[in-house]
Amino acid sequence: MNRIRINGIVQGVGFRPFVYKTAKKYNLRGYVLNSNDGVEIEVEGKESDLVIFIETIKKNHPPIARINHISIEKFPDIGYPDFLIRNSNESCGSTFISPDLRICLDCIDELHNPENIRYKYPFINCTNCGPRYSIILTTPYDRPLTSMKSFAMCNVCRREYEDPNDRRFHAQPVACPDCGPQLSFLDSLYNEIDGDPITNCYNELKKGKVIGIKGIGGFHIACDATNEASVSELRRRKKRPAKPFAIMCNINHLRNIVKCTDPISALLQSPLAPVVILPKVSPSPIAESVAPQNANLGVFLPYAPHQIMIFSEFDALEPLYLVMTSGNLNDEPIATDEKELIGLCDFYLTHNRTILNRCDDSVVVPSSKCNVILRRSRGYVPSPIHLPFVSDSILGTGAELKIAFCLADDELYYMSPYIGNNNSKDTEDFYKEMLDKYQEWFKIKPKLAGCDLHPDYLTTHIAERMRIPLVRIQHHHAHIAAVMAENKLDETVIGVSFDGSGYGNDGAIWGGEIFTTDYLGFERQYHLCYMPLSGGDAAVKRPVRIAYAYLEFAGISNSFLKGMSEFEKKIVSQQVKNNFNLFQTSSMGRLFDCVGAMLGLYPEITFEAQSAIALEQMCDIKILSEVTAYRYRILKNEIDIKPLLEDIRNDIVKGKSHALIALRFHKTIIEFTVNAIREVKSKTNIDKVVLSGGVMQNMILFESLIIELCKNNFQVYFSTELPNNDGAIALGQVIIAGRMKGKVKNVFGNSGANSKENK
Ligand code: ZN
Ligand code: ZN
Ligand code: FE
Repeated sequence: MNRIRINGIVQGVGFRPFVYKTAKKYNLRGYVLNSNDGVEIEVEGKESDLVIFIETIKKNHPPIARINHISIEKFPDIGYPDFLIRNSNESCGSTFISPDLRICLDCIDELHNPENIRYKYPFINCTNCGPRYSIILTTPYDRPLTSMKSFAMCNVCRREYEDPNDRRFHAQPVACPDCGPQLSFLDSLYNEIDGDPITNCYNELKKGKVIGIKGIGGFHIACDATNEASVSELRRRKKRPAKPFAIMCNINHLRNIVKCTDPISALLQSPLAPVVILPKVSPSPIAESVAPQNANLGVFLPYAPHQIMIFSEFDALEPLYLVMTSGNLNDEPIATDEKELIGLCDFYLTHNRTILNRCDDSVVVPSSKCNVILRRSRGYVPSPIHLPFVSDSILGTGAELKIAFCLADDELYYMSPYIGNNNSKDTEDFYKEMLDKYQEWFKIKPKLAGCDLHPDYLTTHIAERMRIPLVRIQHHHAHIAAVMAENKLDETVIGVSFDGSGYGNDGAIWGGEIFTTDYLGFERQYHLCYMPLSGGDAAVKRPVRIAYAYLEFAGISNSFLKGMSEFEKKIVSQQVKNNFNLFQTSSMGRLFDCVGAMLGLYPEITFEAQSAIALEQMCDIKILSEVTAYRYRILKNEIDIKPLLEDIRNDIVKGKSHALIALRFHKTIIEFTVNAIREVKSKTNIDKVVLSGGVMQNMILFESLIIELCKNNFQVYFSTELPNNDGAIALGQVIIAGRMKGKVKNVFGNSGANSKENK
C-alpha cells in the first residue's frame, strides 16, 4: 500500500475526483481525502499500475491545481475493497485556498447552450472555475463556510455535487437558476427595475450611463468606452482626472484596440485573466479620455459569467467595449456593496451572493524578458509563494503605496491582495480585516514583524501596535531582498533599487540606490547625488516645482520652466537658498519628474509616475543604440546628475526634439547605472545584480539594463512573481526581519542559488 500526501493548491480544484477517476481506471483500491495540508491518498494494487497512477497524478492533474510537494510512503496492504472519496477530517481545516478563477470553456459552452439547465445562468461554475477566495468565510473550504451557505442546493445540483464522475463534484459554489443567486438591476436609489437585468444593463450602457457592476471580488464601474461624454463623466465622478482606465471586451474584438501576441491572448483567457497593458492601435474606437496621452491601454476579457453574457448577447449588433474600473473613489479599497458607491453610478447590476473578501483585478505588463506584474491580486491571491526559506511565523507589513502585507510560515509566503494606495481609514480597516483573516485561515500567529523604517507610515503604526518584536527595515533594502528571495538567492549581491521614495538611514529620501547587500544588511555603494525636494512629499504632485528647485540648486538657469507663478518661484528660490523646508533626495522617480517638467509635460500630476510614463512613451527605443548619453559624473559614492540636467536644459533651449531628449535621458541612466555597477564589481568581485523598485516598471530601463548587464557578464535577477513596486516590499521585510532575528533559514545550504537570467 502506498500512502501519498500532496500539498499545494489541491482543494476545491477537482483534485479528488481526478484521483478517484485515475484510481478506478487502473483498478486500484483505497481512498482519497482532503487533509490538513492538502490531499491524502492510500492506494493499493498492481505495482506497475501504482507507478502509472503516481506519474499521472504528477503530470496530468487538473490545470488549476498546483502541487508544491508530494511524499510517498510504503506500507503492507490493508485489503481495501474499492476506491472511495472519503469525507475530510473536519477538525483539520486546510490551509490552502484557491484564488478566484475565470469561467472555464465547458461552463461557457453550457452558458450558451439552450438545452442546458444553466443556459444564461449568470452564476454557472464548476470545480475548474468560478469564485473561491472571494466567497470563503473561513477554512476548510466547504459550502457552509462560504457565502453560498444561504442557498440550499436543489436536487439536481446536489446530485452533481455528490457524483465523483461529475464536473461539479464538490464544487462548493454549485448553483442553478432554481436554487442559486440571482442578478438584479437597480436605479440610482436602489429601486429594482423590471425586466431582464442583462438587457437593461446593456441598454443603459449604450445610452451612455455609468453602471456599477458587481463582479467576483468587488464592483466595477462601467461605461461605454467609445462614448467620450460617458468616460469624462465617469472621470468627474470618480475624481480621477487622467489615470488610465482598463477596458473589457470580447477576445475577437481585442485586436481592434490593442496589439496582442498569441501568448498574451492565452494569458488573458487563462484562469488568472488579469488586466494586461498593451500598445494601442490607431485608429481605434476607444475614446481618447480612457487613457489620455498614453500609448498603451489596459485590457481584459470577461471572466465572470454575467460579464460574458453582457458581452455576448448583443455582440452581433455591434462590438462592445466597456471601461471597467475598480468600484471605488480614487485609490480607496474596492467596494463590495452598491451602497458604498452612492453618487457614483446611474444604475447597478448587482446580485445576492455576498463578496466576503474583496479583491481587485491583477495587472500585468509584458516585456521581452518576462511578464512584469504590476498588481498581484485576483487570480493570484491567496496562493502562497513557495520559497526555500523556512520562516517561523513572520509578518511583513508593507509600505505606504500599493499596500500589501506578507504573512509567512515554514516555506510558504502568503501575500495579501492589493489593499490600497493611501493611508485612509478605509484602507486601514481593510488592512486589519485581511490581516485577521489571513491569520485565521493560514493558522499563522506572527511572532515577529518587519516594517518600513519610515516612522509615519500607516503600515509602520500597524506593526508597532501588534506588540511583537519588530524590525524596522530600510525601504530599498526590502525591495532588493524581495527580489533576492523570489530568486532563491542567499549571498551578497549588487542590488539596484530605483524608486519613488523610501526613508533613508540618514533621514533623507532615498530612491536611486546601488547597494551591496545580503539579508542582514547593506552597504550603500552609489546613489544619485542629493537634490533638494522643496516641501517634501507635497512637491511630488508638482513636478515643475521639483525641476525648479533642482535647477536652482545646480546653478542652472531655470527661467524657461513653464507652469509656475512668480510667487511660487520666489518661495522655492528662497527655500533652496536658505535650506528651509527642504528634504534631500536621491530618488530616481523624482529625477524623472524633474526631466518631465523641464520638457513641459505636466506641471502638476494627478497620479504617480504620470510624468515618467509620458517620458518613456516619447522614446523610440529602436534608435536607442544610435544616440549618445548626456554627461554625468561617477564620484566616490555618488552619481552626479547635475551635468545631465545642464545638457538637457541646453538641448531644450536649442530647440532639440523632446523625443530625442527623452531617449538620451534614458540612455544616460542606463549607461551610468551599468558603469557604477562595474565599479562595484571591480572592488568586490560580485557579479550578481538584482533589479528592483517601482522605476523598473519603465520597460526601456528594465529591458536595457538586463541586456547591457548581461553583455558585461553579470548575472541579472528580477521579479516575475511579484511587482517591482511597493506591492512586493512586505516579502523582503519578512526575510530580513527573520534573518536578523534568526527566524529564517534557507533549505539549500549557503551557496545554492539558481540563476534565472544568464545569457
Ligand atoms: Zn467551469
Ligand atoms: Zn440547483
Ligand atoms: Fe518603493
